Amino acid sequence: MPLSIVNLTYLLAAVLFILCLKGLSHPRTAVRGNLLGAAGMLIAVAVTLLDRQIISFELILLGLAVGSALGALLAVKIQMTAMPQMVALLNGFGGAASVLVAGAALIETHITGAEPTRQLTISIAASGLIGAVTFFGSLIAFAKLQELVSGNPILFPGQHVLNAVLVLAAIGSGVWLAMEPQTATPYWVVVAVSSVLGVTTTIPIGGADMPVVISLLNSYSGLAAAATGFVLNNNMLVIAGALVGASGIILTQIMCKAMNRSLTNVLFGGVGAAPVTKSSADAVYAGKVKATSAEEVAMLLETARRVVFVPGYGMAVSQAQHAVRALATMLESRGTAVEYAIHPVAGRMPGHMNVLLAEADVPYEALKDMDTINPLFPQTDVAIVIGANDVVNPLARTDPKSPIAGMPILDADKAHTVVVIKRSLSPGFAGIPNPLFAAGNTLMLFADGKKAVNDLIQALKGAA
Ligand code: NDP
Repeated sequence: MPLSIVNLTYLLAAVLFILCLKGLSHPRTAVRGNLLGAAGMLIAVAVTLLDRQIISFELILLGLAVGSALGALLAVKIQMTAMPQMVALLNGFGGAASVLVAGAALIETHITGAEPTRQLTISIAASGLIGAVTFFGSLIAFAKLQELVSGNPILFPGQHVLNAVLVLAAIGSGVWLAMEPQTATPYWVVVAVSSVLGVTTTIPIGGADMPVVISLLNSYSGLAAAATGFVLNNNMLVIAGALVGASGIILTQIMCKAMNRSLTNVLFGGVGAAPVTKSSADAVYAGKVKATSAEEVAMLLETARRVVFVPGYGMAVSQAQHAVRALATMLESRGTAVEYAIHPVAGRMPGHMNVLLAEADVPYEALKDMDTINPLFPQTDVAIVIGANDVVNPLARTDPKSPIAGMPILDADKAHTVVVIKRSLSPGFAGIPNPLFAAGNTLMLFADGKKAVNDLIQALKGAA
């Protein structure tokens, strides 16, 4: 196939990727954006397969079959609530693929006896370095989110010095590879050192910061792919990788802002992390928690003029979104104004609450972001917190030593009455007690999220 046609097709695919990212920036255009991105990817893959006689189509089909079967199995098996772990693994596989492709490209030059250029060796070293950090960093993120290892930050003396030494060693081995491209040893040293670096830069990051790390690793996997694009001399891979790298880092920055974390802190794995303290649950809750019933809350809702739902991870676990929508419709039909307060990291992935509520056909206009809804809480009669915990924890405002210190939260505590629906006083993702549950204006409705909301609907019907 003529090179000009290949490059023109790649250009078309790149334009589709950019339109995809633009579309994804708003929920209303997200589906179209996604389709444009998928179309771009299909075009790019098809033209690459037609253009490059790398290996036989039989082998490619075999790979496709195995990959598709595994992908389909995972897509069916993995719960929506475990999506961050899944994304972590997928990022990791992207990094591992870059390591293997770059290694294969180097070995190929040894087999064919071709003299590797400086650009090739530098790209190979970059692919190995970033790819291995991404793979092992993602495995640790997966293990933390899956609770295979503790979600607490793992810190030890000299950690940052060790990380700095590892970075220098990885770069040094890359230079060694550029000087001696005839042997594969320096490449595997780059990969080995970077693998350790991936582990040591991710373990100091606490569970509550994991969303930021996942988005950062996503950005790394894009950079690794871009480096592999230089290895293979494939413009498409360079462009696609750069887009993933750039959008990943922008998302990381947005999330850092949402959680009041410094990007440097996340990039360099816990640099300057303040020592955290965790107050004991007994001290926070003893004698202060007021349990309520669906009937009592229904009475409050009957007279409420303004109700705000504050959804969190527990709404996802109990799949209560349809029940919440039904309750909201019922309240609206009685003249109550209903809105939804959406925290950027509520749930277990960015946009988790938006996706769930969209699934239940909640109008997009009713979803209010933190900056819009927070000033309105003091004029809210009832805030119904359903399965949210960390994102409404006032300790973020008041305790500088808390693991979530400084994270902007939804000011649900400022509503006239707060009803918290959850099953127990168990902590949320950050593992800390929440003084909101013991506040004077809070009532605890202890139950599974979906059951509690259905009970509220029945109680309201009964009261009508
Ligand atoms: P939290 O994890 O803080 O709290 C969730 C609460 O839901 C728990 O306290 C739990 O209490 C309750 N719950 C669980 N199951 C049910 C159920 N079936 N019915 C009712 N309640 C239930 O959630 P938030 O959404 O407030 O905060 C998200 C946290 O996750 C933040 O710390 C964030 O940093 C972190 N995170 C976010 C990611 C993202 O991108 N959004 C990714 C990874 C982590 P109980 O057991 O008593 O019912």
